[in-house]
Amino acid sequence: MIAEVIVDITNDQVDRVFDYIARPDTVAGERVTVPFGKRFIEGYVLRLKENSDLSPEMLKPLGQPKDDYPVLLPEFLALNDKMRALFHLRNVDCMRLFIPSQLRSGKAKPLYNNFVEITDTFDDRELLGNTRKNAVKQIELIKSLRPDKLYARSELNKKYGSNNVEKLLDLGVIHQITTAVHRAPKFEHREDKQVVLTDAQEKVVNSILSNRKGVHLLFGVTGSGKTEVYMRIIAQVLSEGKTAILLVPEISLTPQVLSTFTARFGENVAILHSGLSDGERFDEWQRLRNGQAKIAIGARSAIFAPLHNLGVIILDEEHDPSYKAESNPRYYTHDVAKMRGEYNNCPVILGSATPSLDTFYKAKKGEIMLHSLPNRANAKPMPTIEVVNMCDEVYAGNTTMFSKRLLDELDKVVRDKNQAMLFINRRGFSSYIICRECGYVAKCEDCDVSLVYHKEDNLLKCHYCNKRYKMLTNCPQCGSTYIRNGAMGTERVVEELRQRYPNVEILRMDFDTTKNKNALNELLSKFGKTKPCILVGTQMIAKGHDFPSVTLVGIINADMSLHFSDFRAPERAYQLITQVAGRAGRAEKEGIVILQTYTPRHYVYRFASNYDYLGFFQKELNLREVTRFPPFSKIIRVLVTAESKDAARKTTAELYSVIQDYFNLHREQFLICSAMASPVTRIEKKYRFQIICRFLLDTEPEITNFIFDTVTKHKHPDCSVFVEVNPGNMS
Ligand code: ADP
Ligand code: ZN
Ligand code: ZN
Repeated sequence: MIAEVIVDITNDQVDRVFDYIARPDTVAGERVTVPFGKRFIEGYVLRLKENSDLSPEMLKPLGQPKDDYPVLLPEFLALNDKMRALFHLRNVDCMRLFIPSQLRSGKAKPLYNNFVEITDTFDDRELLGNTRKNAVKQIELIKSLRPDKLYARSELNKKYGSNNVEKLLDLGVIHQITTAVHRAPKFEHREDKQVVLTDAQEKVVNSILSNRKGVHLLFGVTGSGKTEVYMRIIAQVLSEGKTAILLVPEISLTPQVLSTFTARFGENVAILHSGLSDGERFDEWQRLRNGQAKIAIGARSAIFAPLHNLGVIILDEEHDPSYKAESNPRYYTHDVAKMRGEYNNCPVILGSATPSLDTFYKAKKGEIMLHSLPNRANAKPMPTIEVVNMCDEVYAGNTTMFSKRLLDELDKVVRDKNQAMLFINRRGFSSYIICRECGYVAKCEDCDVSLVYHKEDNLLKCHYCNKRYKMLTNCPQCGSTYIRNGAMGTERVVEELRQRYPNVEILRMDFDTTKNKNALNELLSKFGKTKPCILVGTQMIAKGHDFPSVTLVGIINADMSLHFSDFRAPERAYQLITQVAGRAGRAEKEGIVILQTYTPRHYVYRFASNYDYLGFFQKELNLREVTRFPPFSKIIRVLVTAESKDAARKTTAELYSVIQDYFNLHREQFLICSAMASPVTRIEKKYRFQIICRFLLDTEPEITNFIFDTVTKHKHPDCSVFVEVNPGNMS
């Protein structure tokens, strides 16, 4: 037999299958060592076949398997082909998505614990009699051992020396017991909250369970009890012996969410997320692979959870941009979910209070089944959203970042010992610093972006590559000391609040304060316990949190998310406002939302403050239709990056000339076809150029395939070239 193997090398030139002579026991999906050129490397057996096109003397034998089971499920071998075709990925990129890096690198291995206990032949008198008087530790060890007790081998080693333990093992008077350890992620334990489903929830659960095919949209306002719907459906599929995947955006993968699920499903839950240690992640993956755990919960990449016999796949907060992988390997989680759903013949559920325009459009067209939860589960009204015009504040002489209305409400929160969440879409102290004399703006050496001032550690940081710089005391260009802060961030809001409310606990939640493994955990638990308290944060505070005492949500500068030069900016802004607003008034106490803006009449604010998703959807969809943006067209970006500017430019020009020839023959199908430097011209020392094509959908998939082919055939050893379909971010 011949084995078709993908080698674990990320190089476009070896992105194909290689034939090897299979061992008699070779199976598809196994991870093996293969001879490759002069070395041995890791590879994956994709398929077995009878014959090779190569002559027999060209074929080398396959090495030994690296695991005692095939790491790739048959489903993944099929998924590989489909994902390659849809996202223009290399085989090796797919393999790296399917198999956790902890396994591939050998960084994590199963952990075993060794224990010892004494055997029947243990006779302490006899042993002590045979031991030299000066072997103090040996004597202590013998005296310490009792029958019917297990001793951790590592403890004994530490106390008495491993050679002394070894000696007793050799004599056979003690023996060793080895057990595999499950390195379980830690989270708070809570009681399972038993609720009776509302009529609306019941209807959704029944309707999905009775139609277990295709894609379903669960469109439910914040607090409508979508989680409970997910749990009921998961419970049902589990009872039928099937498995489930639940995806949530990374930043809403909070201890709260996890403990809700483990409270109900216990050991059946395995968690996959980046906050775990290598060992924990490895063990959770193994538990899914060997069937001990039946529910995978995690961020985007958990869509590749190694589960057999899936009964349901759920994407919560389906509108979240994190479902689009924006760096290599680039893929769209919704598409992968659909593929796995079809393979397993199970439903895919997309849940959101603010579905993405694409998804809702499909629901309108009937491609996706629509289910609604129009009210909160506890029948509480949605919090009032009050739009405050910051221009009026300036007229009235208030130049601070807080409007009078917001301060009044903050005072009330403090007085009544409640809680507030203030949202600002930027971390750090100020978004850029600028010299007032000459206009110099501090930028990262490796990336073409301005540096953000972080007052807490008095550093300038690059938010693209994380590089740090000393804060400037004078301008490097003109020497002036007149250096000013640009737009504010979370740190600055906290600083001003501390001056106003010196006796109130003010917490900050953003990327910087939650980097450490347990920081988010602790922050949320502190917020849960402290009253009054004000939590200032980035969009991290928008997701999923359920705190009953939050009566006020403030959006410091709503315009920040609105005026991006991206056609999805209004959609994102609408989603963010609705999600943040949804944190207020979730329990007994009523909530209010203060939205501060300089453009109060913008349609996004009008629809958002009325919770009029349908109105917003219709308006935005019309706009997209008129301007011919997705979902009425398709955008493809070919991104070329290289350390050498000339190399990147040359490759871009070569690719562009091929695509342009095609464009010239099919002009009527294109809306745009152009090449240029990317908006951020450099990231992490690499120059970036791009070709953008926007075209009408009726010419799908010819143009897409043509572009994929062009890139595949082109040789560009000095550059990396990526193709992105409807990219979520065009920087
Ligand atoms: P969503 O995910 O839709 O924003 P959640 O699932 O967080 O909403 O639910 C909001 C709150 O309502 C939670 O505290 C949850 O326990 C509660 N809840 C959900 N369903 C019910 C129900 N049927 N009866 C009472 N409370 C419910
Ligand atoms: Zn200057
Ligand atoms: Zn940088």
